[in-house]
Amino acid sequence: MSEEKYEPVIGLEVHCELKTATKLWCACPNEFGGEPNTHICPICLGLPGTLPVLNRNAVEYAMWIGAALNCEIKPSKFHRKNYFYPDMPKDFQISQYDEPINVQGYLDLPTGIRIRIERAHIEEDTGKSSHLGKSGRIHASYGALVDYNRAGVPLVEIVSAPDIRSSEQAKDYVSELRAVLVATGATDGRMEEGSLRVDANVSVRKGPNAPFGTRCEIKNVNSLRSLVRAIEYEIKRQIEILEDGGRIVQQTRHFNEDTLSTVALRSKEEAQDYRYFPEPDLPPVSPLDTWINKVKQELPPLPSQRRAKVKETFGTAEDSQIITLVEQDLDGLFLDVVSRGADCEIALRRLLNEAASQIEAAKKLDAQDFAELIGMEKSGKLSATQCKAVLANMLEGGGSPMQIAASLGFEGMNSNELEEVITQIINDNPDAFERFKAGDEKVSQFFVGQVMKATKGKANGKAVIEFLEAKKS
Ligand code: ADP
Ligand code: MG
Ligand code: ZN
Repeated sequence: MSEEKYEPVIGLEVHCELKTATKLWCACPNEFGGEPNTHICPICLGLPGTLPVLNRNAVEYAMWIGAALNCEIKPSKFHRKNYFYPDMPKDFQISQYDEPINVQGYLDLPTGIRIRIERAHIEEDTGKSSHLGKSGRIHASYGALVDYNRAGVPLVEIVSAPDIRSSEQAKDYVSELRAVLVATGATDGRMEEGSLRVDANVSVRKGPNAPFGTRCEIKNVNSLRSLVRAIEYEIKRQIEILEDGGRIVQQTRHFNEDTLSTVALRSKEEAQDYRYFPEPDLPPVSPLDTWINKVKQELPPLPSQRRAKVKETFGTAEDSQIITLVEQDLDGLFLDVVSRGADCEIALRRLLNEAASQIEAAKKLDAQDFAELIGMEKSGKLSATQCKAVLANMLEGGGSPMQIAASLGFEGMNSNELEEVITQIINDNPDAFERFKAGDEKVSQFFVGQVMKATKGKANGKAVIEFLEAKKS
């Protein structure tokens, strides 16, 4: 089969829950989880006679997202999108249709590729239904439960142009988008809790100049790994159909985590199926220029800017390291520690290898303490292993690295003590030292061994070799 001659075309729709205190139209708490149907009221249940009142903070968050994605922020309107589904208590979803708040932006990926954003609009989330039975899906279930806690939670849906050309690029896009969204403070971006959800539109075509093929939309992929797998599977499935002389039917499909395949859910609705019409209970939203400008000015530094700053400080760090550092939100600590004189390379290594596995604790590290610790490793007062042990303790409870090192018995030796010991051993073994001077590397291990014996293991091997080297001349 000739996968080579086909080019995948992918556009992503990302739903992101906003971190407002209350829901989009009512004062119910906007909190993940909770006993089913405890964060509800007549408004978010869509009971007759109730009126929605737009949450100002949700609009502001949506504007932050628009500004961060280089969109034009515009006067906008709400529409009703009509469809029947039990998790939509009103039988329609209030969304934005042809006049969304943010249009025509873009996101630059760390690889340098630019993905255009068609729109980023405000809408309400639905409730959650669970199907009873083995599969957990509606098919073959014997009953359904519905929880409306999520109904009416504010969402922004970010729709990319069909500019993505591979599953890897789709992953890069979602990672970067997630980082940007989290940096704005508009969302926590937790895919596993469903506060960030991705639908992938996938088609294939014969080469970069051919017209776009018919797309299928894969719903609710809930991790980056699943996203890559779902897209890969879908590309293959479509190519096989085309190679067999078939044609692709536009469909909504579901990715099955167990079989790693996509299955058809329903034939794709057209806009006309939703009978969109303007929401009569809500006025248009036209943010004033002063408000838009304030949002743009207050926008915190975005991941790309933060990465550039780290690169400026430590030019030889690898891009992947810098991406992770910023992703883990540890770049602030890194820059702080380095500005206190800590060695860039060691600080980065300890942050990425040790601290990153305990992010929350790492963010609370005192920069001065951390800088001191890095200094102790750099000077050889602590070996790398000892440094890691001290850091583990710092992450657990904090405290000064000096005290922790002492309590762990890593007092190390100061340079003067060490030099005395080494000088003594050199004097006792003149022949060996001659061989070392002549370039016999193996003898250095002999000296390290002797020093360790004399100091009961307190000395740092690296420091011993440095002293020996220094004594050569
Ligand atoms: P819908 O509401 O039908 O899902 P949207 O306009 O909201 O339509 O979203 C369409 C998404 O599909 C966009 O992300 C767009 O980039 C993508 N898309 C459009 N045409 C294609 C295509 N031929 N192949 C892949 N993706 C496509
Ligand atoms: Mg869609
Ligand atoms: Zn409510």
